[in-house]
Amino acid sequence: MIDVRERAKALNAELVNWRRHIHKNPEIGFDTPQTEAFITERLLEMGIDEICNGVAGHGLTAIIRGGQPGKVLGMRADIDALDMKEDTGLPFASTNGYMHACGHDAHAAMLLGAARILSESKNDLRGTVKLIFQPFEEGGKGALAMIDEGVLENPSVDAIIGLHTGTLWKGLGSGQVGYRFGSLMAGADWFEVTFKGKGAHGATPHLSVDPIAMACQAVSAIQMIVSREINPLDSAVVTVAQISGGTARNIISPSCTISGTTRFLDPETRKMLQERIKAICENVAQSMRGHADVQFSYGPSPVINDMEMTKKLRHAAVDILGDESVVEVPEPTMGGEDMAFFMEKVPGTFFFHPSGFGEDKDYPHHHPKFDVNEDVLWIGSSVMANFALTWQDN
Ligand SMILES: [Zn+2]
Ligand SMILES: [Zn+2]
Repeated sequence: MIDVRERAKALNAELVNWRRHIHKNPEIGFDTPQTEAFITERLLEMGIDEICNGVAGHGLTAIIRGGQPGKVLGMRADIDALDMKEDTGLPFASTNGYMHACGHDAHAAMLLGAARILSESKNDLRGTVKLIFQPFEEGGKGALAMIDEGVLENPSVDAIIGLHTGTLWKGLGSGQVGYRFGSLMAGADWFEVTFKGKGAHGATPHLSVDPIAMACQAVSAIQMIVSREINPLDSAVVTVAQISGGTARNIISPSCTISGTTRFLDPETRKMLQERIKAICENVAQSMRGHADVQFSYGPSPVINDMEMTKKLRHAAVDILGDESVVEVPEPTMGGEDMAFFMEKVPGTFFFHPSGFGEDKDYPHHHPKFDVNEDVLWIGSSVMANFALTWQDN
């Protein structure tokens, strides 16, 4: 049996090269053809040739068949960047106006690393591994699109794993792996409310039905949902992030729009937040002689880790890193992840791969100076590969 830890460490320089190439050439949304081509070339070099290109735009899947019978494990990495300008000053910084500011460049490289290790230990591999390189995680559309195109079929996937790298989690440092039973990341939805009234001259408010006044009341009232209606032991966020209405300082606008996001760890809370935002906005508008048009769009559900899969993940990680470096994440984060769509379909576990530099050298995700500590890329590859090699052991 291959020594996964040593093999992955020896691969780290290559993982760095792969990550830097993807970092330098970021692509966004479903439109990731260069990233797809780069990953395809690397897989072919490894002798992995059962590749399905063009899944959900420019996502791809690839199959590694083990030498022994067994189940099918999906291993997923997201590959898309963000529509923002990079300001890291790194020699391999992007110059095309997009940026890998969430670490998905590292995710793609680490999954390639796991693929490399597994392609070299096919004889020891039970069952099949399906590599899933997913576009458009930012915005939460890629996973669903891949599922709609049948990514979990043919062969049909029995379970799935994935990871997120970065600096999101307090108390976890580079060199460690974070796991959590149950809820790990929040679900996210979006809302947009248009308040409608009647425009008028700014000097004649009595002739108007003022939608900006409605929006202000509604934004205040919405704050009460979390503070007064959610059980303090549950978690929820309601953020109004945009407000727009009016064209001049002496005209009362006929409409005003607010939009924002909700976050939740529980499907019941999701429903409740939607119902209450709708009721509050409609009633506030009505009480002020106006009307509110409330629209929701669904984002990812909460990421809820399967108990058995998480136990196995912990086991696979302890094998590689030892007990003290495999840490239970104390609390879920309110960030969203469309990995949740896969995990609604098949049991899965999603784990954290801390890759900060420590002290004050770290920037948050989606920051123009965000960077990933490349020294620990091998950890992501080795833990995923080891999981694939061990998850069907008793
Ligand atoms: Zn992100
Ligand atoms: Zn991300």
